[in-house]
Amino acid sequence: MLRLANPSVRSVYGAHAQLMPGVRCPTCASNGVEVWVLEGRRCAKCGTACL
Ligand SMILES: [Zn+2]
Repeated sequence: MLRLANPSVRSVYGAHAQLMPGVRCPTCASNGVEVWVLEGRRCAKCGTACL
């Protein structure tokens, strides 16, 4: 039972990462730093909410 859960979770993550890595933090981008933030989360670097 547990063996079935792992591959399906991995494939979901893989597809998600390819299709939509997230949004680029505009604050960091203006500072010349490229930071990708998942939609709806806050930037880990500057704390800007990225929607
Ligand atoms: Zn940022």
